[in-house]
Amino acid sequence: MKFKGRVALVTGAASGIGRACAVELARGGASVAVVDIAREDVLAEASHTLKAAGAARVASFSADVSDFERAGQVVSETVGQLGSLDILVNAAGVTADAPLWTMTEAQWDRVLGVNLKGTFNYVRAAARVFRERGAGKIVNLSSIEAQRGRFGLANYAASKAGVNALTLSAAAELGRDGINVNSVAPGFTRTPMIASLPESVLEEAARESLLGRIAEPEDIARVVAFLCSEDARHITGEVIRVDGGQLV
Ligand code: NAD
Repeated sequence: MKFKGRVALVTGAASGIGRACAVELARGGASVAVVDIAREDVLAEASHTLKAAGAARVASFSADVSDFERAGQVVSETVGQLGSLDILVNAAGVTADAPLWTMTEAQWDRVLGVNLKGTFNYVRAAARVFRERGAGKIVNLSSIEAQRGRFGLANYAASKAGVNALTLSAAAELGRDGINVNSVAPGFTRTPMIASLPESVLEEAARESLLGRIAEPEDIARVVAFLCSEDARHITGEVIRVDGGQLV
């Protein structure tokens, strides 16, 4: 029960990697705030899964992470409902792939708005609580695509490179307050985000990986949970690839 007595807020917790992270924290006995833009029934189902996994308490918030004011509200309501805030995992994310010369302003703004501004919104709001307490763990979901050039991913790659830079600055600003800030950069991971890609793309990703496979959400979540635990108390300002060697 590594997270007994801890309160974790996980964005994007209704699906994929965010949900796996929330489950992993719940298994450790944390109380979890689920924050997602998904439909109410999907949020309710995610909350049910977390209770079944062992979460002490669960609160759920329908929110668009790109909404600055809502982030502040969600963080204070989490503290109000669950009594504290100790851990923040930013996993909400979207893609809108297109070559640069056809990418619309809306595609650029949406991906940057959710992936980068959304992460900023929740880091900022949580940092205010964590600084008062003199402790906190923040893990931001990045991507290996921040570290290489790939066709059609300019908005997504830029957003995740921004997340890495934000992580470093936040680590520098918050370290003396006892707050660890890290990024986890997955390679291809079997979630709804990549479900619409042709099987040939997934096969190529598996071939690229030194381990010959693509990740399951739990492969990412276990590393995120490690970074949220006291076992990782001396790790901050890191971007940790969890990609089976896909980028090597
Ligand atoms: P997913 O689509 O399964 O889950 C993303 C979740 O974010 C969904 O529940 C969705 O409703 C939520 N979300 C989307 N927009 C939102 C918004 N505006 N406000 C609040 N919630 C919102 O995707 P996933 O694969 O689990 O991705 C999780 C994170 O991991 C993302 O940041 C993604 O960029 C990153 N990532 C995924 C992969 C992969 O291959 N799946 C690889 C590298 C990084």
